[in-house]
Amino acid sequence: MLKDFNFKKIIQGRLFKGDEIISEITKILKEKSITSGLISGIGAVSKVKIGYYDQKKRQYISKEFCEPMEILSLKGNISLKDGEPFAHIHIILSKEDYSTIGGHLFEASVFAFEFEIIELDGIPSERGYDEDTGLFLWKC
Ligand code: ZN
Repeated sequence: MLKDFNFKKIIQGRLFKGDEIISEITKILKEKSITSGLISGIGAVSKVKIGYYDQKKRQYISKEFCEPMEILSLKGNISLKDGEPFAHIHIILSKEDYSTIGGHLFEASVFAFEFEIIELDGIPSERGYDEDTGLFLWKC
């Protein structure tokens, strides 16, 4: 399945200490009616909840890490889920000992966060339940 989009614009922004990344990004997407795009960011967090998808059990195993960490890379895509803008985001973090962890991002408490949203122009992709994986993937 391939779709063509045109570049629309880039929004650059930051969040503030104590903000939660997923809820703030979702709020921005809804306010600006962004339904297709990409997101990337760097910064630092005080706490995260990330997930690993167990392909056999077909469910996310999530874990919280409550310690200061650097966001080495946060990236994701923006589409529609249940008719609303939805950001699917993954993250790689580094700990004090320089080891890294990563996964599907459920929640993150910001210490500092700078991001770019690349808005795309085209017919937005819509997520729907996928029988083969148990995930909500792009249907069209
Ligand atoms: Zn994911």
